[in-house]
Amino acid sequence: MINFEYARASDVADAVRLISGDAGAKFIAGGTNLIDLMKEDVERPTRLIDISRLPLTTVESLADGGLRVGALVPNSDLAYHPLIEQRYPLLASAILAGASQQLRNMASTGGNLLQRTRCHYFYDTATPCNKRDPGSGCSAINGANRMHAILGTSEACIATHPSDMCVALAALEAKVRVIGPAGERVIAFADFHRLPGDTPQNDTNLGRDEIVTAIELPALGFATNYSYLKIRDRLSYAFALVSVAAALELDGKTIKQARLALGGVAPKPWRDSSAEEALHGQGTNPDTFIRASDLLLRDARGFAHNGFKIELARRCIVRALTQAAQANPQSQSDKKIR
Ligand SMILES: Cc1cc2nc3c(=O)[nH]c(=O)nc-3n(C[C@H](O)[C@H](O)[C@H](O)COP(=O)(O)OP(=O)(O)OC[C@H]3O[C@@H](n4cnc5c(N)ncnc54)[C@H](O)[C@@H]3O)c2cc1C
Ligand code: SF4
Repeated sequence: MINFEYARASDVADAVRLISGDAGAKFIAGGTNLIDLMKEDVERPTRLIDISRLPLTTVESLADGGLRVGALVPNSDLAYHPLIEQRYPLLASAILAGASQQLRNMASTGGNLLQRTRCHYFYDTATPCNKRDPGSGCSAINGANRMHAILGTSEACIATHPSDMCVALAALEAKVRVIGPAGERVIAFADFHRLPGDTPQNDTNLGRDEIVTAIELPALGFATNYSYLKIRDRLSYAFALVSVAAALELDGKTIKQARLALGGVAPKPWRDSSAEEALHGQGTNPDTFIRASDLLLRDARGFAHNGFKIELARRCIVRALTQAAQANPQSQSDKKIR
């Protein structure tokens, strides 16, 4: 039996005050990840600060045409929100590709960003894991690493970031609004999650005494030409082997703007602007898409069991871009793709 305290925050200022005063405390929102980690003895917070009743549950239009999503909007409510369905369908698709309906009903927007890796060694306290126990070693590098990363890895950790929602948020260039003892700040999505380097225990650049209050989406939602393609071992209720968020802004058959982000292949949602730039001004044809996929995967490196992800990712990128170009995100019949 591991004892911990429980406190419910009355407002955001109270949440920040409570977490600042206890180095072992953790916020709890939907609890769908944190409670599992506590049951497995991976996380041992001395105190849970319940933020689930804070008034961070609205989705509001911003004056610049963007949208602000409160950190406690449940994943289901967000996916089915009319403004998300109309203006950011890529985000709705990505959310609905994740977990199960019951989990999405509980899971919060902020919690989704901060969910931890699904590396099985991270969950198994009998094995070394630098992310769980810094300095103990990485069991996956020479172990079972079929689900692991091919980009952005380090000698210390090769785990992937598990979120689907975050892949779409990376492609859409979201921003994360946070509040801590020093006040409010806004973090570009690309800077929110960290690569492991030699400190894989730190998944993000969020301070331990900061709370995520909202996600902001820019006006450009790529509402017509988009696709979220997720390849997994089962058709539902499974984490991505590879996922691709692709979004295009077209002028006829010419690409004016492109966004590409990958999930299931790196320790953070993976976006590479050089691949996007290679698409600008090009026609929507397979050769263009293959060139972009080659660029995006140029530094990919497989381990003993996950080398297949490199070719899988290449094909997924081409297919997702083709579906986006055809404004046919659900298409299974992309016959022109090799
Ligand atoms: C069986 C299963 C299958 C799943 N499949 C998928 C999948 O396919 N794709 C996918 O994307 N996800 C999947 N998930 C993960 C799920 O989406 C996450 O567990 C969920 O989004 C976490 O949200 P939560 O509100 O429950 O977070 P919690 O468990 O409450 O918290 C998670 C972490 O976030 C911190 N936190 C929460 N809110 C805030 C905040 N506002 N500010 C600062 N810190 C905060 C907590 O302290 C904790 O460290 C799956 C989960 C399960 C259990
Ligand atoms: S890949 Fe990362 S999370 Fe998995 S065992 Fe290695 S250090 Fe731990």
